Amino acid sequence: MSTHKSASSAVPDSPLPSPKTSKCNASAGDIDAAPQPNSPSRRSKRLKSDIPEASNQPQANGDAVEPKSERPQTSRTRVKKEVEEESEFLISIKAKKNGAVKQEEPEVVTAKATKKRKTKEERETEVMPLRPRTQGLRMFVGAHVSAAKGVFNAVNNTTHIGGNAFALFLKSQRKWDNPPLQDDHRDQFRQSCSEQKYNAAKHVLPHGSYLVNLAQEDKAKAKQAYNSFLDDLQRCEALGINLYNFHPGSAGQTTLPSALTRLAKALTNALAATSTVTPVLETMCGQGTTIGGSLTEFRDIIAQIPKEHHSRVGICIDTCHSHAAGYDLVTPAGFKAFLKEFDEVIGLQFLRALHLNDSKTPRGSHRDLHANIGTGFLGLRAFHNIMNEPTFEDMPMILETPIDRPVSDTSKPPTTDTSSATAAHEACASEDSESDLSDPEQPPKKKQTKGKPKKPTARVIADPSVWANEISLLESLIGMDPESPEFRSLEAKLADEGKEMREKHQEQHDRKVETEEKKKKKALEKGQKSLVDMMKGSSAAKGKKKTADS
Ligand SMILES: [Zn+2]
Ligand SMILES: [Zn+2]
Repeated sequence: MSTHKSASSAVPDSPLPSPKTSKCNASAGDIDAAPQPNSPSRRSKRLKSDIPEASNQPQANGDAVEPKSERPQTSRTRVKKEVEEESEFLISIKAKKNGAVKQEEPEVVTAKATKKRKTKEERETEVMPLRPRTQGLRMFVGAHVSAAKGVFNAVNNTTHIGGNAFALFLKSQRKWDNPPLQDDHRDQFRQSCSEQKYNAAKHVLPHGSYLVNLAQEDKAKAKQAYNSFLDDLQRCEALGINLYNFHPGSAGQTTLPSALTRLAKALTNALAATSTVTPVLETMCGQGTTIGGSLTEFRDIIAQIPKEHHSRVGICIDTCHSHAAGYDLVTPAGFKAFLKEFDEVIGLQFLRALHLNDSKTPRGSHRDLHANIGTGFLGLRAFHNIMNEPTFEDMPMILETPIDRPVSDTSKPPTTDTSSATAAHEACASEDSESDLSDPEQPPKKKQTKGKPKKPTARVIADPSVWANEISLLESLIGMDPESPEFRSLEAKLADEGKEMREKHQEQHDRKVETEEKKKKKALEKGQKSLVDMMKGSSAAKGKKKTADS
């Protein structure tokens, strides 16, 4: 989905780093160079260094990780795992002793240390809920929160931002091998949902792995994708979750119809192998050979799934994606027309969830860049349409908006750990991270070095208060008169905040369109020229042949 992102890092049950997050491991690496077993935080450092490198075992609980005496060699993988465990520790520690945290900071000198410091900062802000949950609403708004160190953490992270729904990754979304869901994580997730009054069956919408492409043509890769997909569905069933959002995938070098058929077959097999969970296909921005830009593609997929399974097939509208794919969700009339088309082409009974994201790029751009609510090309009016649409009542509505903010820290040069900070957040949620896969124009930070040299990006930290505020904003739109001064001023204020960003992307978009048109024109001219040449050539050859023959 989009570019950088979110706060959460999803490596819930698997402490092993995803490719991106491994960078932050590097940053954590220094930490175990000087482990000290005293203060809680020190202890956690020590734990890091004590985790056996080979261990693939999930370590969700701080207390599950018993400090060992030997200190194995450093490896990025191990370090990352350790960092995650450490931060888990820090949650409880911080909650109890805020002061102690500060004391440790001097120890943190290196790049790795930076990651640690960031984590602390994050943790500090996470101790108290940022806003209370609103009870009794028809609409269930939340965000794609972090499930780092255990799926149950997503529940706490949602309470923290006052969400009434949430998304999470059930395992690392960027690697194939993941440890199984631990029984204690499962139990804790169910217990937390029940204690904190979240209906896991209805309002929790996990997000599938970015690696999985069920439309994959290659047999071995398709098998790998299917296994990972089915494993996620089984995790859902173990957790009491009935909805599971995933990307339809891409046709690659094959034809779209053949890709849709492979996807439908895989989905049918997965449905037959499960009993309660509903796989939910996400609408996409229609970039390249990605499946899911047009609503008709969902119709064609569902048509190839046996009817007996239809009650367990769902669609999730991602507002940014469908807007980028060309649908009008902004004007009330356009929005109504979109829903009507959805109903006629697919059937509204298949609609099960929404991803609420504004878009940095214009409608029809086929680019996947999430913007904060009200600041993008969708604007607040689009979200007013959504928050007042009876069809969406009781569905999970998930924010995947950017929440990174720059960290002001001059103690070290920003270059070193910029990417690790970003990478850590990328492991998480917003579709900005998804864009790594779906939008080659918006590569992950890591890859952004190609092309012209970029100046060091500012270091960033995930700030969940952005989501807390967006949830409040969205909930306030329920029943609000869009002609009222209250709405008008909110709308104008947010539009103003995003003005520069929209202008920048509009310009980029216009340039791209212009370039494409030029290219097309050139190709056309070239085609005509070569056609002429070919004809000339063939007549010349004929002439030659005649001569030779004669
Ligand atoms: Zn999405
Ligand atoms: Zn997505």
